[in-house]
Amino acid sequence: MKTVSLPGGHAVPALGMGTWNMGEKPAARAEELATLRLGLDLGLGLIDTAEMYGEGRAEELVGEAIAGRRDEVFLVSKVYPHNAGRSGAVAACERSLRRLGTDRIDLYLLHWRGGVPLAETVEAFMALQKAGKIRHFGVSNLDLGDMQELMRVKGGERVAVNQVLYNLTRRGIEWDLLPWLRQHRVPLMAYSPIEQATLLRNPRLTRFAAEHGIGPAQAALAWLLAQEEVIAIPKTSHRERLRENHGALALRLSPQQLAALDAAFPPPRGPRPLEML
Ligand code: NDP
Repeated sequence: MKTVSLPGGHAVPALGMGTWNMGEKPAARAEELATLRLGLDLGLGLIDTAEMYGEGRAEELVGEAIAGRRDEVFLVSKVYPHNAGRSGAVAACERSLRRLGTDRIDLYLLHWRGGVPLAETVEAFMALQKAGKIRHFGVSNLDLGDMQELMRVKGGERVAVNQVLYNLTRRGIEWDLLPWLRQHRVPLMAYSPIEQATLLRNPRLTRFAAEHGIGPAQAALAWLLAQEEVIAIPKTSHRERLRENHGALALRLSPQQLAALDAAFPPPRGPRPLEML
């Protein structure tokens, strides 16, 4: 398994599992649980969830999937911005822990920037760390200016990741945010790595994948995995698709293949504001 080292040296899988929209349909539950458990069997030991997903139902599903296997997974969850104050974040984290059926979250993220000052959120995160309820903390959907501000806040330099929208059709961050994160050794967690499946119907991607005898999802994920310090968290509720996505780990795109993808999905030619879903 390819890994990415968080600041401080903790190595986490470069390919994990997203959970947005999971845990919401009773008829889908058995396959969702089986998919997450298969992911753990295959070594995809990083699960991304959030208190927002299904208002806690995704966390409950994750809790059920990892029951008895807690040590096999690096668990990521997120706090709503409106809960990210000094006491609100602690209470929200405790609710997430209960739903997840665990005593610790490995990485706790601010889901996006809201009205609470970053200094207050970081203070709450450090208190949670001290209490052993979270191991690392990070942020999501923060653009360059917000990251620079975070670094000026007491404890902000301990940020472990920034989770943002990043895939072949969303390369704006390569202009400024991604180089800045690399310079500061903050890994990037790429969400919606296959653009919520719409990328799989993109003719430029399907042509590339067909030429190389791989699936389009595998091509899109292999492109992300070819990059240093990038963690991809595709979501699927189907075991068959999970196996396909897992196959991306075995692919090593050649310089020629990477150049072909650059030609089909050009990198940015100037600054762009961070995109969000
Ligand atoms: P993804 O880009 O991961 O795409 C998920 C969609 O693709 C689902 O509809 C899934 O269908 C489908 N899919 C997955 N694999 C395949 C495949 N091999 N072939 C065909 N279809 C496939 O989108 P997400 O938005 O879910 O992003 C991934 C994760 O990132 C989220 O689940 C969440 O954990 C996180 N996220 C974080 C955000 C943030 O603000 N921090 C915002 C958005 C996402 P099916 O499940 O039916 O198989």
